Amino acid sequence: MQQSNISDVQKWFPSEDGNEAKRNEFMDLIGQLIQGVDDLKNPDQVNLGGEKNREGLFYEKLVSESRIPNSGKPMKDVNEELLKLLHGHPYHSKYFFTNILPMASIPGILGMLTAFMVNGNNLWDVYGPAGAEAEVKVTAMMSKLAGYDAEKSGGYTTWGGQGAVYSGLRIAIAKMAPSSLQQGVPGNFYAFCSEAAHYSLYKSMEAVGLGSDRLIKVKTHSDHSMDTEDLRRKLRQVCESGGIPVYIVATTGTTDAIGIDDVSAVRSAAEETAHDFGLQAPHIHADSALGGFFAFFNEYDLHENALSFSPAVISMIKPIQEKMKHLHLADSLCFDFQKLGQTPYVTSLFLVQDAHDLKRIDLDPDETPYVGHRGYGDYHTGYTLECSRMASSISMYSALMAFGREGYQKLLGQFLEVNLHFREQLARRIPQADIMNPDNTGMSTLFRIYPEGAPRFSDEISGACTVQELERNNALNEKLFEKLGAKRDQMFFGDTKKHLLAGTREGIEVPLCVSKFFVISPYTMPEHIPGIIDYLKENIEEVCRAHGSLMTN
Ligand SMILES: *Cc1c(COP(=O)(O)O)cnc(C)c1O
Repeated sequence: MQQSNISDVQKWFPSEDGNEAKRNEFMDLIGQLIQGVDDLKNPDQVNLGGEKNREGLFYEKLVSESRIPNSGKPMKDVNEELLKLLHGHPYHSKYFFTNILPMASIPGILGMLTAFMVNGNNLWDVYGPAGAEAEVKVTAMMSKLAGYDAEKSGGYTTWGGQGAVYSGLRIAIAKMAPSSLQQGVPGNFYAFCSEAAHYSLYKSMEAVGLGSDRLIKVKTHSDHSMDTEDLRRKLRQVCESGGIPVYIVATTGTTDAIGIDDVSAVRSAAEETAHDFGLQAPHIHADSALGGFFAFFNEYDLHENALSFSPAVISMIKPIQEKMKHLHLADSLCFDFQKLGQTPYVTSLFLVQDAHDLKRIDLDPDETPYVGHRGYGDYHTGYTLECSRMASSISMYSALMAFGREGYQKLLGQFLEVNLHFREQLARRIPQADIMNPDNTGMSTLFRIYPEGAPRFSDEISGACTVQELERNNALNEKLFEKLGAKRDQMFFGDTKKHLLAGTREGIEVPLCVSKFFVISPYTMPEHIPGIIDYLKENIEEVCRAHGSLMTN
């Protein structure tokens, strides 16, 4: 091939013919990025190295300075610019404990890269056959894991756990009122979820036009699972006043505490109430975005214990198993691979027990002139809210094949083990702190600190405190948020200002502020816990001392 025939614009693209020179150039550029990140790593802190000052008018300056260059830069130079974006970025070292924000695994990244190499459009198998194939495989694999009949179930990859909650709602409405696709949503439709549910449903109610006032929040038990007696009561109330319950979201793994709703009890409450009022049963979506991956333990034999988990980890898996075995009773569910599946954003899988449900929200062939409904091509996802879709299923497929069931069991087991050590040592060594989710055996520990002599967690949830007492305790915890937050480059804890609502003597409910230790880095090991507790203890003591001297002044 003669050099002179190469068009200048081709330099930005992978080769057409697989030639070695272009491959090496591409590999070098990728190598530059990987090495560039490695050079910024420091396992003893959270943030990557480099220069980054986000103080002051940081974003305003970006706006005024940013413009497209007239002539482009060499890709090596662009890579240097890209690496600068990563300077000071949080990285999933052993001290990263904030929320469910995982590191992307190598199989997950390679899966993405595979998809990018052909850049198929997952909308239609004529454009994206690899994505369609992987999507069908992953849907079947995860259906079987969840206990669905893979011959009957269906699913697709979508924009997050929130997208799955939204898709479930679309199906729920279409089931109850098929004409709503043309005529709009009847105003007397109601949806239900627990007080501990993710705000996805709240947003979905806004987006479908029902409005969040038609979302009914159900009380939770102390283990943060839905109180299905309260669900029954609220379903009846809605039915008695002429409303129609269309959708119940059972959270199987709440985002903070990892409380797991009992899908079986939710289904019974839904079906019995519907029957009593002569209504069709509402659609039940298991919001298993986070917790779905616990289904990897569903068939783990706790007696045989093939992976030699410690007895304490076995005792954590047991209650999870008991709840997760009901997952298949949901009409739809979700696996957020970008959470416990260890793949990059956005890799969420929405599953339906009955693939016919997808037809209910499909577009009429007349409305899709560009794609599908041809003699060629068999897989057209006209039912997704997206039009073009990335083939994120390839990343999921890669992770599932590389980790296998055992790999996920080992990883999740490690997270549980580390969390267990944290809980034990926190309880033993930090008397100011109470654990707020002692009954949830996942990888997250919520804790709240108390001033000396103040009412503690058990008093707070008994409803016997005053609003002022709860607010004082909240104020101390907010001080701790600020202190830990300012030093999050050392250890990155999570926090929430709206953990469960505690009743008060005045009858007002007050949300409790809590800090969060979420085990999500594969690099956090039990032997790191003593150092982590030392750090927390020191910071908590400082916050309490400052608070104490404030109170006595
Ligand atoms: C994270 C989460 C969501 C939202 O998922 P995204 O992927 O961020 O859209 C919804 N529900 C639960 C229970 C979650 O944990």
